[in-house]
Amino acid sequence: MDLKNFSFSCPFCKHLLNDSEEIELVTKRDSGTEGRIFMSVAFGNYTFRHIPETNFTLREIVDFLCPHCQTDLKAPNHKNFAQLNMDVGHNISFDVIFSREAGKRKTYVITEDGIETYQG
Ligand SMILES: [Zn+2]
Repeated sequence: MDLKNFSFSCPFCKHLLNDSEEIELVTKRDSGTEGRIFMSVAFGNYTFRHIPETNFTLREIVDFLCPHCQTDLKAPNHKNFAQLNMDVGHNISFDVIFSREAGKRKTYVITEDGIETYQG
């Protein structure tokens, strides 16, 4: 499934979180340090930009916040994942969850048909 043309939004304030290339979120580390992460909208592409440049520790759990309403996007049923809405048009949206653990490349799309897994 090519997810490039879908839009991603905050489950809380519904604000759009991506442009054609990247999803923008606020990151927060245990130390309280905040930054901005720009992740590719292409699933399976786990390259990202982070401002300021940060080397996350492997297996570090990072908090992801909506840049608009500042709500923690922690997935309600999967505490080590963050959750976004993926809007596929005509008022249909799926839940996308991705790992909050640095270095763990797992993303799931939850559709009415079940769960599709992406990992890279
Ligand atoms: Zn929001």
